[in-house]
Amino acid sequence: MKKQFILLILTAGLMAIFNSCADKSKIRTLIITGQNNHNWKASSPVLKDILDNSGLFTSEIMTTPEKGGDMSSFRPNFSKYKLVVLDYNGDSWPEKTRTDFVNWVRNGGGVVVYHASCMAFPEWKEYNEMIGLGGWGDRNEKDGPYVYYSRNELVTDTSAGPAGTHGERLEFEVRTRVKDHPVTKGLPSRWMHASDELYEKLRGPAKNMVVLATASAAPPMRGEGINRHEPMLLAITYEKGRIFSTLLGHADEGGGPAMECAGFITTLLRGAEWAATGNVTQEVPFDFPTAAGVVLRPGFKEITLEETIANLGTYDIPKSTKYFSHLQSLIRKSAGNPDKLLELEKAMTKVLTSSESTAESKKLILRELSWMGSDYCIPAVKNLLSVEELKDEATFALQRLGKSE
Ligand code: ZN
Repeated sequence: MKKQFILLILTAGLMAIFNSCADKSKIRTLIITGQNNHNWKASSPVLKDILDNSGLFTSEIMTTPEKGGDMSSFRPNFSKYKLVVLDYNGDSWPEKTRTDFVNWVRNGGGVVVYHASCMAFPEWKEYNEMIGLGGWGDRNEKDGPYVYYSRNELVTDTSAGPAGTHGERLEFEVRTRVKDHPVTKGLPSRWMHASDELYEKLRGPAKNMVVLATASAAPPMRGEGINRHEPMLLAITYEKGRIFSTLLGHADEGGGPAMECAGFITTLLRGAEWAATGNVTQEVPFDFPTAAGVVLRPGFKEITLEETIANLGTYDIPKSTKYFSHLQSLIRKSAGNPDKLLELEKAMTKVLTSSESTAESKKLILRELSWMGSDYCIPAVKNLLSVEELKDEATFALQRLGKSE
């Protein structure tokens, strides 16, 4: 008993050490919120979930005093963090805090500017240089040009006028404009974003800024003419610092579709990693949307193998095509890794042997196993020879696996 107890303490100690090491490898992130003309109480926890669920970041939320409150004590220790995510549109920060922030970015701090944060601090010169483009807050031609794509060319438009507007929320197509940037590398040229506000007519200094992706609010929806494409994702450098701005992600209670969009989540994570480190190590996920339609991630997480296996058995087009696509992407990713493939094969064999699984799902599994299966699945496949509707697929699989009798 005593021995076990000591062992338990030792294990707990080792785990604590391990966890603190593991955390050190993560990107320490500060989410600043507390004032916004948006529902920051809904959006900030979602941003935290998205960042932390990725396994790359460890984030904490800091809220400022309420609007009109005493801001003098608001002075985060930026030097503790590699990344600051701004979900903030409110009162000015104290002079010292602003100076701290600017110096921290200059020295290589990474920043994510999220949605309405592009409206913040219209009078703060350095901030506007960091965000590249902003809107509202009485911004106009004094603040810099409009920047957009027209007829597939990047346009810098100095004409007079206010900055920032948006129409009714809608699903819209995003175009990836730059393919060789770490944030957008490997993303499809066109992809659908879930229902969101489409910010138009942003303007700002636009220095050291790359327009990564755009979208058009043009008719038949609305907007300025058929070829005007507004920036949706921006990458800016500010001395040694990197800033990623996403104009996407208007939050409803609990987040809502704009934040559940797999495209929003993926680009946010890629932008955040780039801002913090200059690189993106994340693969483009299997469920990244295409031009064909919106992809939502309820719970803001990528599907796990367990979920996929649990749902594959009740195959029901189109409800579970995403699970089958997920399985295929896992198989592709595991090519050349026998251990991983065997793990997948075991999970797939479970679906084959379950009485709950539909014949349709078993046919799909048999087709996959026919080329990637090993001896492990053979007994389960042989069992299906006696099932009338699966006999042909099982025979085919055994032939391809070289196990037909
Ligand atoms: Zn909004």
